[in-house]
Amino acid sequence: MDEDDELAARRRAMVDLQIDARGIRDPALLAAMREVPRHEFVAASLRREAYDDTPLPIEERQTISQPYIVALMLEAARIGPRDRVLEVGAGSGYASAVASRLAAHVDAIERHPRLVELARERLARLGFANVDVHGGDGSTGWAAGAPYDAIVVAAAGPRVPDALREQLAPGGRLVMPVGGEHGAQRLVRLVRESDGRFRETDLGGVMFVPLVGAQGWSAGSNDT
Ligand code: SAH
Repeated sequence: MDEDDELAARRRAMVDLQIDARGIRDPALLAAMREVPRHEFVAASLRREAYDDTPLPIEERQTISQPYIVALMLEAARIGPRDRVLEVGAGSGYASAVASRLAAHVDAIERHPRLVELARERLARLGFANVDVHGGDGSTGWAAGAPYDAIVVAAAGPRVPDALREQLAPGGRLVMPVGGEHGAQRLVRLVRESDGRFRETDLGGVMFVPLVGAQGWSAGSNDT
């Protein structure tokens, strides 16, 4: 088997054993995860680990989330083909790429300029044309693209930022880890009801890098 065939076989096994077997049911999401080449979103030295059941390090001391966590968040966000999506914390660009196969358009924000550059380059090279990667502090969202049908935050903040609640369309879903900068965090989903109220669901315990910004944690020596 050549390397591409082997990586494709690993990717199918990843979806079967880590995603499907753990109860993710959205057929479009399973299909997207069977297609998006996760190995292209990590350093060359980590290609062979790209389909393992774990987060992996990326540049700037950040991480690409565990595949199951990406699936859990995107399923909870219930992204449909006409939806406009915001991802805060683009990192490698992998989750944005998967989301872009489910949605009409994805805006992704990343605070590290080097990661912005790498994610843009990869997404363009791989043909993900409906994703725009913006540099900046996504804790205040991306007002220019609002309102969003779904907002997915890939970094943990002390609370759901008001700016993100405001940028959610009626009926919109927001999925975000909330809790300690380095400790216990819960993945929460907020649904903005048509009467303007927010309904919150707890999706379980998780571990994410900190959301650093005006409506997140302040930048410190450990999280830059
Ligand atoms: N979804 C990403 C996971 C990246 S980890 C992937 O698939 O690879 C979370 C990312 O959030 C990190 O790259 C970090 O730099 C970024 N981040 C943290 N705080 C941020 C903020 N306020 N605005 C934008 N990005 C932020």
